[in-house]
Amino acid sequence: MIDTNPLRRVFWILSFSLLMSAAVVRGAVSPDAIIDPGNEAKESRESRLSAIEFSPEEKTWLADHPTIRVSNEFDWPPFDFTISGTPQGFGIDLMNLLSERSGIGFEYINGYTWDELVEMFFDGQIDLLHSLSFTAERAEKAFYSPPYYHSKNVLILRRDSADTNNLTDLEGKIIALPKGWSSIKFFRKYYPAVHIIEVESSRQALEYVDQGKVFAAVEQEGISAYFIKKHGFNDLKLSKWIDNAELQKTSSMHFAVLKNQEILFNILDKAMNTLQPEDMRQLEKKWFSREGRTIGSEDVGLTPTERAFLASKKAIAFCVSQDRMPLEGYQQNRLTGMAADIVEIFGERLGVSFTVVPTLSPTDSLSKIKAGQCDVLPMVSATPDRRNDIDFTSSFLNYSVAIITREQEGFIGGLQDFTGKKVGIPEGEFTWETARRDHPGVNFVSFPSATGSLLALSSGAIDAALVTLPVASYSIRHTGLDNLKVAAHSGLQDTIRIGVRKDDVQLHSIMSKVIRAIPVKEMDSVYQKWVSLTFEHQVDYSLLWKILVGAGLLLSAILAWNWQLVKLNRQIGKAHQELEIKSQELERISRTDSLTGLANRHYIETALAAEINRHRRYQHNLSIILIDLDHFKRVNDSFGHQVGDKVLITFAEILSNDTRASDLAGRWGGEEFIVICPESDLEGGAVQAENLRQKLEAMHFPVSGSQTASFGIACLAVGESLDDLIRRADDALYAAKQKGRNRIEKAQSSHVAESL
Ligand code: GH3
Ligand code: MG
Ligand code: MG
Repeated sequence: MIDTNPLRRVFWILSFSLLMSAAVVRGAVSPDAIIDPGNEAKESRESRLSAIEFSPEEKTWLADHPTIRVSNEFDWPPFDFTISGTPQGFGIDLMNLLSERSGIGFEYINGYTWDELVEMFFDGQIDLLHSLSFTAERAEKAFYSPPYYHSKNVLILRRDSADTNNLTDLEGKIIALPKGWSSIKFFRKYYPAVHIIEVESSRQALEYVDQGKVFAAVEQEGISAYFIKKHGFNDLKLSKWIDNAELQKTSSMHFAVLKNQEILFNILDKAMNTLQPEDMRQLEKKWFSREGRTIGSEDVGLTPTERAFLASKKAIAFCVSQDRMPLEGYQQNRLTGMAADIVEIFGERLGVSFTVVPTLSPTDSLSKIKAGQCDVLPMVSATPDRRNDIDFTSSFLNYSVAIITREQEGFIGGLQDFTGKKVGIPEGEFTWETARRDHPGVNFVSFPSATGSLLALSSGAIDAALVTLPVASYSIRHTGLDNLKVAAHSGLQDTIRIGVRKDDVQLHSIMSKVIRAIPVKEMDSVYQKWVSLTFEHQVDYSLLWKILVGAGLLLSAILAWNWQLVKLNRQIGKAHQELEIKSQELERISRTDSLTGLANRHYIETALAAEINRHRRYQHNLSIILIDLDHFKRVNDSFGHQVGDKVLITFAEILSNDTRASDLAGRWGGEEFIVICPESDLEGGAVQAENLRQKLEAMHFPVSGSQTASFGIACLAVGESLDDLIRRADDALYAAKQKGRNRIEKAQSSHVAESL
């Protein structure tokens, strides 16, 4: 009820000020957990408060009840979740508005699962339950607010499952639903042939789909999209809206108060009525836009059971093979390599300690984990065989597997060129399964380590070695083998994951979450540290000593001595040069995207960080253009992935031909690209983007016809971080999509710039 009469408004402001001063007197409840309507923004609030007409009975109630207890879930973003004990989310912000407008302090009750919160509510231990769906059964005992948010339920499926939004397709299969959800009753009633596993949270339901434990989960579209985007569930997809009106009813959000608290309900209902469309729009913008998704990314999101499990477990045992550098190693009784840093990060995130079980080789690690002698393998590739015995998290590092040959070997197209020849594989690598399956004609030979296979190759015992790129580069440097080269990409990708012993379901879920919670940047610095280390120059000086000794015997022949020295110097110089070329080659491979030949994301991030530093020092302009191809899924769906790939390659060509020499174009991921434009301001970036947009629009693609893209441009503000710059460009890109695609949008100026 909105009162527009100015005189009456003044009256209400006065009577409300009086009421408020009575209502903010609080009991002895922890102040952190209570939203105190306080004194801030008093003016604007008063004008709204003046719209509420409380009855005398309600006023008395308010004076008697300064605070009420309100539900707060631990992990249901973006609606209702907790980060380090602080309630967050769309529903929480909305409750805070109700608290502010009603004058009631809200004490949030968290640390419980949803079904526990519901139970506490019906037991009278919680006064206000929010972000819940409507069921006739609950409505018998509680008053429901009108819906304040509506979205639709979708199925969450693995990408390799067939598309469906039809519930009958779930019959005979297992789905995961959080405990206490009304949809559980729905399935039991209408689809009894669907098997349900009850899990502790929505996120856990998604993890279960991702890990293949269940076929699907059911969740609201916005929430699923939030999880997928923020936690990098790249192997999951969303179905179309589920075509079932009954089930869709469960996705409206309401708040509820028990029927014996009718006065409270009426007060809150009145407070709710003061909310304007603009209030709701602001909340939606905050929580459902991309900005909302960045909130709380540091949270691992463990369920209460998982926390208890970790607390009860003294230490987690890692099996680490002694010589698989730079990935993992055990030297002088210490864990080393990337695994050492990653294990340390896990320890910090989870607050548990780790023990290391050193093993002889990756194969030894595999048999030890199978025998239950350790819990976790920190860096391992999944293969179909291994999946029988070990559970895997999603991958967190990807490397190409290179074919290494001797220097004099001619052009190599791929592994098929080695039919009938010997190719070495370090022991325990996933390639032993996959390469042998795909190339039965090749004679694969196993070696105890990468170094072993490279030594054999160098001496001519085998014709090539198949080694993951960073390992190859590390071994070549550390052995000083100067007659080897990276001949070709094998087409195989080493996707590195964490392996968890099969019988430990809790630990698997915990490790899956922690790996998602580590920001790309943190992972990247681990990568940087260990991979760039491998590029230090090393020359084998043993030859020098041999020749010196030989030369010593020829003391009388001074001329010969001189000649030897010259020759030696030449040899060392050549070795230096060759190593230089090799490291350049390795560097080139590790920084380019294999499909398009553009810089890959890793390299772009490094380059951008360097540009930002430069910008800080010299205050030059720096703009970035983020590009996403429009409706690209349709290209794949209608013409196949290969045609899609061709479009990506052609667009990459446009990017490399039509950007300035000083610009750096790269593949940001999938069908997203980025151009770094040093010395360009926002306008300059926009001109550049518009040029690219027109070039692409004018291009005719042989099979798929025309293709457009949307562009977001942002110019670095003084003091702005890389993440913020990218976020602004991403928001602009999002705006370009929203405004109809095939257009460019400039980012709004940064808050940093305004505040400086
Ligand atoms: P929008 O205009 O909103 O961007 O629509 P879209 O269809 O492009 O949407 P979205 O970004 O969700 O889809 C991207 C698609 O790009 C999904 C994926 O199948 C495809 N894709 C990602 N990487 C590759 C690739 O390397 N090759 C091919 N062929 N397709 C890819
Ligand atoms: Mg995209
Ligand atoms: Mg797209």
